[in-house]
Amino acid sequence: MARSDRILMGPGPCNPYPEVAEAFARPMLGHLDPEFLELLDETGARLRQVFRTVNPLTFPISATGSAGMEAAFVNVVEPGDVVVVGVNGVFGERMCDVAARCGAEVVRVEAPWGRPLDPQALLDAHPSPKVIALVHAETSTGVRNDVACVGAAKGDALLVVDCVTSLGGIPVEIDGWQVDIAYSGTQKCLGAPPGLAPFTAAPRAVEQLLARPRSWYLDLNMIARYVSGEGARAYHHTAPISMVFALHAALGALLDEGLDAAWARHRSCGQALQEGLEALGLELFAQEGHRLPQLTAVWVPLDRLPAGIDEPAARRLLLERYGIEIGGGLGPFAGKVWRIGCMGHTASMRNVTLLLGALEELLGR
Ligand code: PLP
Repeated sequence: MARSDRILMGPGPCNPYPEVAEAFARPMLGHLDPEFLELLDETGARLRQVFRTVNPLTFPISATGSAGMEAAFVNVVEPGDVVVVGVNGVFGERMCDVAARCGAEVVRVEAPWGRPLDPQALLDAHPSPKVIALVHAETSTGVRNDVACVGAAKGDALLVVDCVTSLGGIPVEIDGWQVDIAYSGTQKCLGAPPGLAPFTAAPRAVEQLLARPRSWYLDLNMIARYVSGEGARAYHHTAPISMVFALHAALGALLDEGLDAAWARHRSCGQALQEGLEALGLELFAQEGHRLPQLTAVWVPLDRLPAGIDEPAARRLLLERYGIEIGGGLGPFAGKVWRIGCMGHTASMRNVTLLLGALEELLGR
């Protein structure tokens, strides 16, 4: 099967919106060409709409979601600062690692994988942290963590939120939830290829940016002079022009559909998938009431795989026979859990029906 025919139902990347491929192939512009700079400004404006913020410093970082995470920490965390991190999966764990590399005193607040974080435990973990950080949508487990409750009572702490898997798929309210710094990735519910990290920082966070963070490339003071539409721009790095074209188009497609409609589409696809999996006799991994529609983790029915087929071979079969990619489990759940994405343009009833049909054929009833 041609690669372009693949249905990408892993934890990301998803299939990009059709408009995006066209935009990606647009003739190149110079990175300081006024036409490109206008498009960059427009991309920032579209990101503000999608992040639901008025933060002036809102733009795509020229690297993947992980760069968004690094930028969030290196720009505000100095050695000795207390950083409270919620950990209930791989990406919360990564936040601890990044904060620790900035020299932070990391205070971990854990919940078992598959269960949500307790917002009060995050708030009570330290009397005066510099940062409280959590992942909104844990891609490793399919769990949604509550951000609003933490934002409402965070005090002086800066609230850093990973929106890599949430943005565009479920409600994200940066201003409404009092989030100070947030980042995302382009390849999930935004429906673009991987390669950029949409980023936003509230004025309150901008006031606290370190004058000289321990990263040159991710120094927000310097990047702001390049991406800011106000005043003279200063060259910082050569923007990945085609990726910005792609993101601009993907955000356009999302906003044309409407955020409410896109969230509803993700919700109904996720629900149909989860009900369909249960109807096939499979058991969902994440706690009921906290499941993400855009990323479903399900226990692999090891006893129902065809003879001679183990977990990786079953996923390979899905890919080779049906052209459908799903993801495997991470960390302690590798080989035990499948992770199925319904993100961006991939989130359609057609794809859900195809996958459920393929699984039924593979596993038998
Ligand atoms: N945070 C979360 C929640 C993710 O799911 C991912 C990637 O899957 C990342 C961060 C890292 O993003 P990237 O792989 O684009 O660097």
